[in-house]
Amino acid sequence: QRAEWSKLKDEPSVSADGQHFVVGANIGAPKDMDAVLENGAEGIGLYRTEFLYMESDHLPTEDEQFEAYKTVVEKMAGKPVTVRTMDIGGDKHLDYWTLPQEENPFLGYRAIRISLDQDEIFRTQLRALIRASVYGELWIMFPMIATLAEFRAARQIYLEERQKLESQGTQVGDIKLGIMVEIPAAAMLADKFAKEVDFFSIGTNDLIGYTMAADRGNDRVSYLYQPYNPSILRLINQVIQAAHQEGKFVAMCGEMAGDPIAVPLLLGMGLDEFSMSAPSILQTRSLMKTLDTKAMATLAQKALDLETNDEVVALVKNAVH
Ligand code: PEP
Ligand code: MG
Repeated sequence: QRAEWSKLKDEPSVSADGQHFVVGANIGAPKDMDAVLENGAEGIGLYRTEFLYMESDHLPTEDEQFEAYKTVVEKMAGKPVTVRTMDIGGDKHLDYWTLPQEENPFLGYRAIRISLDQDEIFRTQLRALIRASVYGELWIMFPMIATLAEFRAARQIYLEERQKLESQGTQVGDIKLGIMVEIPAAAMLADKFAKEVDFFSIGTNDLIGYTMAADRGNDRVSYLYQPYNPSILRLINQVIQAAHQEGKFVAMCGEMAGDPIAVPLLLGMGLDEFSMSAPSILQTRSLMKTLDTKAMATLAQKALDLETNDEVVALVKNAVH
């Protein structure tokens, strides 16, 4: 099967009826780029920049960050690279930067909340990203956005740094600005966000956990981590439709995007980009070739009207596998 899939390396990702979708890769560092290129990714849908901070013994400088971002963007040679600003906090800690001890770190001080609070660190990262943008196609997204005010504040800081660099004569690319949709509040207000962002990327890893209020890593409650629960599917569908209503691009970068049960439903809902770990790309591209978008749209509508996770799994297995 591997050999069959590898023939698809330089092919576009198309459904049986010829609709084009983007199959992208998730990366944590420039060293992941070999696997990305070997598997024929059509973009980077998620560059998790927190690893740059976690693998260093100091806050990465603007130049250190610039080099990392430039390397990735250049290697993709004009294909879009979506870089997420740092998502520290939750379970991700740094030895050299003490963050407060909290009772509920996953509901606490993390990601964009830290960036907006300690904005010098955020500005350094944004400057590095803005400078790297001329070397290819770079998009910036903010993690853990819960409110419009957070997005507006982050955009304002971005615009200030961009303005400063431009007034110093720095060349800047055509950067798109988006958010991770991984907090239910943002998914519920997707129609409002869609008027202001350039794109969404749905982060199902966190979105499922926060919606079901269950930690996948906790054995006692992991049964509640249900990716295909119609509650989750309805949220995802709502986000996709809200984005398209405003003509905006919508990606997914959580694990679900490369999951063979979820892919037919997501394709039927009209998701634009599926971003996953590099080894899943060719298998997903191969599956897409067998799927008809109209039939999958009908299947997705049926799934949205079911009651349980297991019913959805049975529906998809029966229709597709
Ligand atoms: C997600 O939450 O789905 C996501 C992609 O972000 P991370 O896994 O890095 O939290
Ligand atoms: Mg997340």
